[in-house]
Amino acid sequence: MPADLSASLLMTLAFAVALLASLATRYWLATRQVRHVARHRDAVPAAFATTVPLPAHQKAADYTLAKARLDLLEMAVGAAILLGWTLLGGLDLLNRSLIALLGPGMGQQLALLAAFALVGGLLDLPFSLYRTFVIEQRFGFNKMTLGLWLADMAKGVVLGAVIGLPIAALILWLMGAAGSTWWLWAWATWVGFNLLLLVIYPTFIAPMFNKFKPLEDPALAARVTALMQRCGFAAKGLFVMDGSRRSAHANAYFTGFGAAKRVVFYDTLLARLSPGEVDAVLAHELGHFRHRHIVKRMAGMFAISLAGFAVLGWVSNEIWFYTGLGVRPNLAGANDALALLLFLLAVPVFSFFISPLMAAMSRRHEFEADAFAVSQTDGRDLASALLKLYEDNASTLTPDPVFVRFYYSHPPAGERLARL
Ligand SMILES: [Zn+2]
Repeated sequence: MPADLSASLLMTLAFAVALLASLATRYWLATRQVRHVARHRDAVPAAFATTVPLPAHQKAADYTLAKARLDLLEMAVGAAILLGWTLLGGLDLLNRSLIALLGPGMGQQLALLAAFALVGGLLDLPFSLYRTFVIEQRFGFNKMTLGLWLADMAKGVVLGAVIGLPIAALILWLMGAAGSTWWLWAWATWVGFNLLLLVIYPTFIAPMFNKFKPLEDPALAARVTALMQRCGFAAKGLFVMDGSRRSAHANAYFTGFGAAKRVVFYDTLLARLSPGEVDAVLAHELGHFRHRHIVKRMAGMFAISLAGFAVLGWVSNEIWFYTGLGVRPNLAGANDALALLLFLLAVPVFSFFISPLMAAMSRRHEFEADAFAVSQTDGRDLASALLKLYEDNASTLTPDPVFVRFYYSHPPAGERLARL
């Protein structure tokens, strides 16, 4: 059919152009970042001249450069893998092999999803190993043994299977059984699943990997409880996590909603902060809570995913969507798992171009949380705590401004401290 053939070619063309454009943009951004950081390596920026020693500044630069170089390699390999799955026929081969082995049906479709996830995970292993045991190790951040790393991976695979397979089966079933509006039902399922995850992640999943304990120091606990009550936050919501088991990086975060909401401090951060700084960081996290940032982020994500499911509902019925991305659809049976995978592979190539919008929203939330912290505690405490955080994570003080606009979920130190 000529109409289908030209639609198929158009799909291939759109995919190839978007892939090339996103790769070119990412390469350009990465080289900008590398050049900018390397150029500013030899001098601490004037604003930090008295607070950041030169060796710490240079360590942050070297760490940033090492990660950026690995990202460049990973980007090239990722593009090759993406082409391998799609236009070069990898997914088609996997799908055909599983049909020959298992026959068409729900079992084959679930096996296709599982095999895809497994192969993807294996291809990612060398990068994950190199990141932890070479880069993090070289800069003194890694605290993981290979045994712990393997145990984490095994838990991740089991969790992925226990949680992922039932939800995948439910969505595949809806795709086959719910008629032409299946995508609306699938979206609702996905929304429900994410809300559930927001509750079970902090309470059940994260504790499988780390220990979470209430604050031990009674004086600090009293301060912190007073601050939380002032901000209208449940008094039992602060936990200390043994982050030092895996890494020397320091962090604090706010997660969950309803009764499951909590603020988590890494023990690595707590060990470094004065009581006033603990207050300031906690007030920042409570600022995320007060401004309802998690709810806003979820709402945005659900709106975007509704559009995504609508597009998937449309393209999954079109032969050109499959053939244009290098896959022969099964004319006799269901193609639902195939459609899901092709969609997951193709979407990031296009959605990369809206990532600056998401990053900008996230950075705005950080400024709002900082402003809230300043209204509740001493701004100087927040400034000194943030500086320790940037130092412990070897975050560069001199990132490329355009790179920041695209990728940074948190504002760089210079911008953030200038506002305090
Ligand atoms: Zn924050």
